[in-house]
Amino acid sequence: MNDLRPIFPESVATARPLVIAGPCSAETEEQVLSTARQLAADGVHVFRAGVWKPRTKPGCFEGVGAVGLEWLGRVKRETGMKVATEVATREHVALALEAGIDLVWIGARTTANPFAMQELADALGGSDMPVLVKNPVSPDVDLWSGALERLYNAGLRRLAAIHRGFPTLGKTPYRNQPMWSIPIELRRRLPELPILGDPSHMGGRRDLVGSLAQQAMDLGFDGLIIESHCTPEKAWSDSAQQVTPSELRRVLDALVIRDVTASGEELVRLRAEIDEVDDQLVELLHRRMTVSRKIGRYKKQHAMSILQTDRYKELLAHRSDAAEALGMDRDFMESILRIIHEESIRQQMEIIEKK
Ligand code: PEP
Ligand code: MN
Repeated sequence: MNDLRPIFPESVATARPLVIAGPCSAETEEQVLSTARQLAADGVHVFRAGVWKPRTKPGCFEGVGAVGLEWLGRVKRETGMKVATEVATREHVALALEAGIDLVWIGARTTANPFAMQELADALGGSDMPVLVKNPVSPDVDLWSGALERLYNAGLRRLAAIHRGFPTLGKTPYRNQPMWSIPIELRRRLPELPILGDPSHMGGRRDLVGSLAQQAMDLGFDGLIIESHCTPEKAWSDSAQQVTPSELRRVLDALVIRDVTASGEELVRLRAEIDEVDDQLVELLHRRMTVSRKIGRYKKQHAMSILQTDRYKELLAHRSDAAEALGMDRDFMESILRIIHEESIRQQMEIIEKK
């Protein structure tokens, strides 16, 4: 893909990061215009709003449909911003092209489906539409790059990827786990492809947007797509993760843009790997404590004592042997296990003491 062209001409994409902002969904003409006017006044160049919403569960708001494209047309005329929406079928593409939409993105659920991707590539082929492809819902780089290749093979050259994270089982601080190593691998394979971060869908909470946007910048991403709504708490979809236009301004102003090449790409990549492993450690420890509490409940029901020394000794020996076999320090492993065990006992005491 070494003949890709910029998704926007120089006049729009002047500096890193390129920012796309706007509500998750177009809800009413008023909501779209009011949000757009505030964002335009704040210097945002590209406005996003979903008019067809792929929802995981039926019964949720599924978008206003084609009428929303007319509202986006008004945004374009009134504010001069470029406008973007999500497409998932060939009908969506035809309507978006007809309405003069400037950029389309492909959602995570669609990227995961090669049939849908081929249909979209066929429908978009022959146009010069900039297309942003979100990562698929599973952490599969081949599926992600395969979707981009289908578009490329259809003749599209203004392409970029959006990293929005990956859903996982179990409780994590994020709606979608960042798994930074996946976009890093995509960059290794397709170095000329711009990557935008989507801290809104990754965090799922507005208070996480700033730090996730900063992490994306630290990894050398080219831009950000952030959900912003004039009244986020009243949003019809993804209410918890949207920020007001003024909150968005604060997030963008606080970003520190470092020269990634100067700090060493290898170091950046390794730090991302550490972050990912640490996130997994947190998740594992949470799982570990959840099981401990279940054991606490069991022991309570069966009037058993909490501390069972033999079991603890056995556990300590087993894990320390395993660590040693991997070339790790035995004392290091024992101290970690001891801290975990202490916390586990504390958790069980809490259960037992509860009336
Ligand atoms: C969106 O951008 O509103 C959206 C539906 O995103 P995703 O495909 O990442 O869930
Ligand atoms: Mn959304």
